[in-house]
Amino acid sequence: METISNLRLFLIESPIKMARQQGVGHVKGTVKRVLVELTSSSGIVGWGEAAPWEVFTGTAEAAFAAIDVYLRPVVIGAPVNRIRLLTQQMKKTLVGHGEARLAIETAMFDILGKSCGLSVADLLGGRVRDTIPLSFSIADPDFEADMRRMTEMVPNGNTIFKVKTGVKSHRDDMKHLEAMRMAFGDTIDLRIDYNQALQPFNAISTLRDVDQFRPTFIEQPVPKDCLTAMASFASDLDTPILADESCFDARDLMEIIRLRAADAISVKLMKAGGILDAQALMAVADTARMPGYGGTLWEGGVALAAGTQFIAATPGMSLGCEFYMPHHVLTEDVLEEKIRNVNGEVVVPDGPGLGITVSEASLKSNARILAQS
Ligand SMILES: [Mg+2]
Repeated sequence: METISNLRLFLIESPIKMARQQGVGHVKGTVKRVLVELTSSSGIVGWGEAAPWEVFTGTAEAAFAAIDVYLRPVVIGAPVNRIRLLTQQMKKTLVGHGEARLAIETAMFDILGKSCGLSVADLLGGRVRDTIPLSFSIADPDFEADMRRMTEMVPNGNTIFKVKTGVKSHRDDMKHLEAMRMAFGDTIDLRIDYNQALQPFNAISTLRDVDQFRPTFIEQPVPKDCLTAMASFASDLDTPILADESCFDARDLMEIIRLRAADAISVKLMKAGGILDAQALMAVADTARMPGYGGTLWEGGVALAAGTQFIAATPGMSLGCEFYMPHHVLTEDVLEEKIRNVNGEVVVPDGPGLGITVSEASLKSNARILAQS
């Protein structure tokens, strides 16, 4: 039986091109991530990535320790074709640390796919889509810089833009939304994300203001535990409310459905803690007729390849994705070749496993290795 014989782990830091102001955890300069390389007994290599964000799910340093100290003993010797069994064992071994479990699960799927010539999407039931509409986030502290980016991107087919509101003043948010609609009219699909910035008290008047700009959805306007406020916005506004921080997993979603606190959800593999668990979450969402949106934290090419394969094989993930990091934010990535973006869509890669290549050389030349094991 083919089993996992080796695990290598890298805590890396990648430079980013632009500052990102999100309301919490402003990012500037670099982002940290963990890469896992698994090798099977016949020599097949698979990659996975844990990209937590300290204000959202946890730290890269904690993910590194979780894998190195606690998950390594259950992963070494695990049969490559028993991924679900391994995910159960990892959950028994370690509470939380979903990103660490996801990284291992991703590398397992990469190996299993390569061993039989199938993509991860094939292993998840096969593709239902070959491309995924790409959303770019408007989060530069310098709004004019974002406007210049949009002016370049829109003619190239990028038409989905998600504005990070609630960071600057409401007056500034209104000015920026108006400038975007004035410049691009209805050619752009505008979305709004508050990242929990508003308090329920009087939030509705703020939301009614931004609603004039006809956003496709308003994401997480209030703190994650304010589900009854979310429910009141969902019933008062025509614009759908999308839950991000309020919805990590299927249990959160069950509560959201019970309270009718959102119309759609952001699914992030780092929140769900696994590709299989993300599909399980979407099974609940599908049942409630709630579409999913492919969100991200500060993920690089390996994690986004996993996200791309997941969305390709999951029908309910119909609101596109924000996998713009490798092309627009990271100065370099550890993939030998980026996953292609064409006409504002992410192209699901052909090829077995994740459909990507990571080499020792591409890793070492494109990221600073802070620790390895
Ligand atoms: Mg969000």
